[in-house]
Amino acid sequence: MSEILVLVEHTDGDVKKVTLELLTKARELGTPSAVFVGAGFEKAKDKLGEYGAAKVYVGESAELTGYVVAPKAELLAKLVADASPAAVLVAATAEGKEIAGRLAIKTGSGILTDAVDLKLEGGTFVAEQSIFGGSSIVHSAVTAGTPIVAMRPNATPPAPETAAAERVDVSVELSESAKLAKVVEKVAVAKGDRPELTEAAIVVSGGRGVGSAEKFSVIEALADQLGAAVGASRAAVDSGWYPHQSQVGQTGKTVSPQLYVACGISGAIQHRAGMQTSKTIVAINKDPEAPIFELVDYGVVGDLFNVVPQATEEIAKRK
Ligand SMILES: Cc1cc2nc3c(=O)[nH]c(=O)nc-3n(C[C@H](O)[C@H](O)[C@H](O)COP(=O)(O)OP(=O)(O)OC[C@H]3O[C@@H](n4cnc5c(N)ncnc54)[C@H](O)[C@@H]3O)c2cc1C
Repeated sequence: MSEILVLVEHTDGDVKKVTLELLTKARELGTPSAVFVGAGFEKAKDKLGEYGAAKVYVGESAELTGYVVAPKAELLAKLVADASPAAVLVAATAEGKEIAGRLAIKTGSGILTDAVDLKLEGGTFVAEQSIFGGSSIVHSAVTAGTPIVAMRPNATPPAPETAAAERVDVSVELSESAKLAKVVEKVAVAKGDRPELTEAAIVVSGGRGVGSAEKFSVIEALADQLGAAVGASRAAVDSGWYPHQSQVGQTGKTVSPQLYVACGISGAIQHRAGMQTSKTIVAINKDPEAPIFELVDYGVVGDLFNVVPQATEEIAKRK
């Protein structure tokens, strides 16, 4: 089976869920080899093995994480040259896409970003992308070099299948241009108990219909019953009701959860662009003509301040 490189996203060895999804997808297409950059491999090893990494290329040198993303692209380019993998998978996060773009230039390869699926058809990797705010589905294949595919979080349900996770140490002589932007400080962002927005299996979002920052507690209560992340429309963010990093949409985050619950959100095209590939969409809106109802699986016409607390209460009863 051909080797598929999977770039690991992690924080000091805590492997992100999207990497487990990529390993699961890579197993369908070939033999996954994880690429782990930075400190913390011993912590990550079991997780990577549990999800099928036959091999893990480990680049531990402090230089590799000391200069933002450029060194990771150089390390991957070296691995592509040395191991000739059939494809390289990265997460379609801001960092993953920047690394993928740099890698494509370095290796003269084609790149596909924001893939929601990837299949092997007659020896060709065919990616599925959702474009124009989710109104069209495109199937694309790379025609030059090694296919580099940035896949959206939540595109593949992660499924374990144990493999050896055999460690292979790797290093690369960094070019001077890879050292042009240096990391001078790292500060961990204080996080609550809720899952990360782009990785969450369930997202509950609030829009202008929520009415104020205080009333977002109604959205948070439902999210907490469901173990969900909280999102917001731009109107809610611009009003200062919820932090910018929670904005879903064209100029915010792209989410693709199993369940997306839109509360008091009209469904503007720019909002849809960030959530339309969610597997099941539920909307609560008091306007039966709201455009969001065009794309929902389940719609509730009603005042969110009646509907959402009742839903929260019912879910709590079932626990
Ligand atoms: C270049 C550009 C980029 C943009 N990027 C984004 C983006 O990334 N994300 C984004 O979200 N938007 C984005 N927008 C803005 C977008 O066009 C909309 O203005 C925005 O999404 C509207 O937010 P909303 O649905 O919360 O508000 P509104 O459109 O005002 O809708 C509020 C909805 O709440 C309903 N409602 C009110 N009260 C209640 C209640 N008590 N119970 C139930 N329902 C109620 C109303 O019926 C209405 O449908 C962008 C716009 C531009 C031009």
